[in-house]
This record gives sequence, structure tokens and C-alpha cells, in this order.
Amino acid sequence: MNLEKSTQVFAEAKEVIPGGVNSPVRSFRSVGGVPPFIDGGKAAKIYDIDGNEYIDYVLSYGPLLLGHAHPVVTEAIQKAAEKGTSYGAPTAAEVELAKLVLKFMPSMDMVRMVNSGTEATMSALRLARAYTGRDCIVKFIGCYHGHHDSLLVKAGSGAVTLGVPDSPGVPAAVAGTTITVPFNDEAALEKVFVERGSEIAGVILEPTPGNMGLVPPKEGFLEFIQSLTKKYGALFICDEVMSGFRAAQGGSQSLFDIDPDITCLGKVIGAGLPVAAYGGKKEIMQMVSPAGPMYQAGTLSGNPLAMAAGIAALNYILDNDVCARVESMTAILTGGLQKIADKYGVPVQIHRLGSMFTVFFSDKPVTDFDSACACDLEAFKIYFHTMLENGVYLPPSQFETNFVSLAHGPEEIEKTLAAAEKAFKAVAEKK
Ligand SMILES: *Cc1c(COP(=O)(O)O)cnc(C)c1O
Repeated sequence: MNLEKSTQVFAEAKEVIPGGVNSPVRSFRSVGGVPPFIDGGKAAKIYDIDGNEYIDYVLSYGPLLLGHAHPVVTEAIQKAAEKGTSYGAPTAAEVELAKLVLKFMPSMDMVRMVNSGTEATMSALRLARAYTGRDCIVKFIGCYHGHHDSLLVKAGSGAVTLGVPDSPGVPAAVAGTTITVPFNDEAALEKVFVERGSEIAGVILEPTPGNMGLVPPKEGFLEFIQSLTKKYGALFICDEVMSGFRAAQGGSQSLFDIDPDITCLGKVIGAGLPVAAYGGKKEIMQMVSPAGPMYQAGTLSGNPLAMAAGIAALNYILDNDVCARVESMTAILTGGLQKIADKYGVPVQIHRLGSMFTVFFSDKPVTDFDSACACDLEAFKIYFHTMLENGVYLPPSQFETNFVSLAHGPEEIEKTLAAAEKAFKAVAEKK
């Protein structure tokens, strides 16, 4: 694989952009090597500036459920662009996308559009704090909710501790209002509520975490959180920025007996344009300015290009049963990967939910952040680079989730499995 041009541009990039990238994972730091610089994408494939082509399982980290440059989305954006790119005034398209989102997510009565998942969770926390008059937030270790101060905290392994900043620059006072608990640990969560229940504004989680790799909740865990938050008067906040429209058409929350107070969405909702949203029960959402006193605003929020893309994509997803179709293709792929791993005797835990999956290189069950961290990262690196060299672009980290799109058909799956033959063989030979 020739990456001459990418190598050159990456070197230039590092002079003008920190680490050469605008979001850290893109730098390939955890797997090594030069990240291909992308020139374009069509359907299931991306093309780099050296002319290499790849079947793409990153899909912009989730948004592209319909694949790259789907004509329905592209046309909607073009049409909208001809009428201007932003007004700073209300449009009917915002109402249309809001109604569509509420149709997918019955737990939400009202929704506010923002520009990124980070903004959605940041606003959701402010809302929970405003509504309850409390300051503390509970989050789970290994769940990612964006990069704002309150949630950039993961704390020590195992123990329930006071938040310690995960990044320099996060004030200890802010991190101190974030209490972290291991995922799937009911006893630890209950202990936090028994000790500090009256201070807790809300519990935020990815109901089916995808940011430590894909880890399912234990049976009853989400229901337990819901009953505990109710008992203590805290809000139950589901961050479905990744899992919305991916775990299932109605997000992860449609798969369990839960009814969150606030839900955060992003990624698929904008079909690759910068859109995210937070919403929930009417009584709570009425706190948001200008209906209520909690301030939150955005110059480009509800942007007409982004609304057009979201409306086109969500209508297409609804009308064509896209989630179920992509899910069945994903299941064929993960079934195939498991068979090949078994054939070469490579121990893996393959988790799949809807159109998301992770191949964990571990011989033990992965149920939380600690067990995810116990994976064989050297094996992952070999797997990753062999797949890349054979034209399959995977997320460059063991702790990211892979995504499949409607454009991934039998031909792409077959090519991917052919690459996986080589990749698992290479892993087995290195042992
Ligand atoms: C991606 C993601 C975010 C952050 O969204 P950005 O648009 O990157 O700010 C928040 N929560 C979850 C669960 C995510 O997967």
C-alpha cells in the first residue's frame, strides 16, 4: 500500500494542527503508522489521496448509516445550499426534524437541536442541574459523552471515587461534581446514592456503551438505574449519540424497559453534518431558554443544511426499514468473523448490537472498562494493519466501535471476510 502523499500531508499537518488532526483518534496513535488522508467517499468505500480504496467501517464514527454521499442526502443538502446556508432565524425545517426525531424516540416530548454530541450532553447536564437544583452527576467509567469538563472524567479503576480530572485543564472543582462508577456495577451505584443521593442531579450513561468498544448492559442494569434515580429524585439521562438509530430504530432505549427523562442524540441524526440534540419530558424541557430560565443557545443550531440532511436521512431510514436491513448484514459479518477467528484459534469476544460491533482480542468476557483494558492490544494492532493493507478501514483503536451502513452489501462483506482470513492468520502466527 502506497501512502506517499498521505505521509507528506501528515508531516505538513503536524506543523499547523496539533498532532496533525482535528480529533485525536484520527492520528492512528494507538496503532502506529500514517493515517490515510481521505479524498472522498461513495457508498461503503472511501478513497485516499494516494488512490487507495477501502471498505469503510468507521463511517465518520457512526453518522453514515446510509453510507457515503447517499444521493437522497446529497440532493437535500444541495437544494438547501442554494437557498442560503444560515439565517439565525427560525425555519420550518427545524420543526420537521424535531417531529421526526420524536417519532423515533417515544420517551421524548420535546427536543432542542445543537451542533455536536458534546454540546448535547453538556446541555443535558446543565438542564438536570437546573431542574433538580443539585450539582453532582454520576457517570460510568469508560462511557464517553464528549469533551466538556464535567464529563471528561473517568477516575481510578474499580473503586468508586471522587472524580479526578482525566485531562489537564479540567478544574478539580468541576471534576469533583462528577462521581464515577464502574459500568454494570449495581452495588457501587447504589452505594453512591445511599451516601450522596440528595446531591445527585442525574445519572448519565451510554445505555449500550460503545466508547470502550461495544459493551452490553447486564440484564436489569438499566432498569435498576431508572428505579434508583426515581427513588432519589435524580434524572435518568441516556446518551444515545452513538446508539440512536444504530442499536435499533428507536435507539437502545427501545430494547429495554426504560423511559429516560432526558435523551441525547447526534451522529446519525445529521447524516454526516454537524447536528446533535437533547430532549425529553416536556416538564423538564420547558426549563430551557426562552421557554424557561436555563440558558443555552447556538449561532448555527438548527442550521438549514444540517436540518435538510437529517430530514432526508431519517425519512429514508423510516420508509425503508434501514435499521433492520443493516442489522441483518452486520450479523452476517460478525458471524463470519467469529468463524475465522475460531479457525485460527484466536480468542476473541465479538459483541454486536444493531449495526455496531467490536472484536475484542480477549479470552475473557468484556463487561466493563477494566475487562476491555485487559484485551491483547498487540493482537489488535496486527489485525488492524492487516485489514488496512487489504483494503478494509477499521477504527484505529481496540476501544472504538465498528459501524456498518446500508451500502455494505454481500460483496463488501465477502471482501471484508477475505481480508479477515489474512488478519486472523497473521495474529495467530505472531503468537
Ligand atoms: C460521539 C459521542 C459523543 C460526542 O459527540 P461529538 O459530536 O463528537 O461531540 C457523545 N456521546 C457519545 C455516546 C458519543 O458516541
